[in-house]
Amino acid sequence: MTSLALPNAAPDVARITVILGTGGTIAGTAASAQDSVGYRAAQLGVAALVAAVPALQGLALEAEQVAQIDSKDMSAAVWQALARRAAAHLARPEVGGVVVTHGTDTLEETAYFLHRVLAPTKPLVLTAAMRPATALLADGPQNLFDAVMLARQRDACGVMAVLAGEVFAATALRKCHTFRLDAFEAGDAGLLAAVENGVLRRFREAPAAVALGLQTIAAAPDAWPRVEIVLNHAGADGRLVDALVAQGLQGLVLAGTGNGSLSASLEAAALRAQAAGVRVLRASRCAHGALLGDGSPLPGAGALSAVQARIELLLQGLLARPG
Ligand code: ASP
Repeated sequence: MTSLALPNAAPDVARITVILGTGGTIAGTAASAQDSVGYRAAQLGVAALVAAVPALQGLALEAEQVAQIDSKDMSAAVWQALARRAAAHLARPEVGGVVVTHGTDTLEETAYFLHRVLAPTKPLVLTAAMRPATALLADGPQNLFDAVMLARQRDACGVMAVLAGEVFAATALRKCHTFRLDAFEAGDAGLLAAVENGVLRRFREAPAAVALGLQTIAAAPDAWPRVEIVLNHAGADGRLVDALVAQGLQGLVLAGTGNGSLSASLEAAALRAQAAGVRVLRASRCAHGALLGDGSPLPGAGALSAVQARIELLLQGLLARPG
């Protein structure tokens, strides 16, 4: 199955697009239209976001509020609820695709989580905004419109994100800017497509994936494994890792320098953690690039970012739970 529709493929007008709201700046409001920083995220309901886009009126849409949070506060409980609601809607024959409105801060984590758990055969499109809904030139309405256009493509499938007219595979999405409207990059993987005037122009296929399934994440959120990320930096030592292990750490991602390198004392602490049964993965603190084999005794996370590697360890820990 192709991951995206052919260029200019017909939208699936017969089927419903479900829009799941989770909050974020796209649903944020500020006291003044000039303020794109001092706002409160997650103030408007998803139905209000849809109503603010006249071009969506008359389309077969349903809206459902799954959460109402600033995505910096994303939690296992919200991920679990979101995965379940998305899966339930995607399983309905009359639904062509699902859109999720979300904050930008942890968008790449939610996208990767849904990709690994659901790997859907219909489009599951995440979108967000860098400016609140009250801004002079809010980006949310256009992003939401583009996401719905992508979710209505008949041949599209998989977890994607669309922002500023750019379509990203869940695996490649990285937030790389604090303020710009085009805050996301796809790095070496490149964009999947562009949405231009409501029309999809395709560049490449998304990587195929096998769904782990909802049963993988069935454990109560407070029973999910504790997985932390520790950064290598000038002067980094192993004391933080030792303290985390003493607190019952179950997974450790090391955001190494460059090709995942670690200071000698941080590497020694990570090896002690690994010997004590903690799952360890090395990633890089660089925004882009993959780890190349360098003979390290600590496994590398390949092209996964540190936050994606953390999700891998969470899922590995959940999969390893007894019965
Ligand atoms: N803090 C916001 C959030 O992630 C930022 C945003 O949406 O751009 O919910």
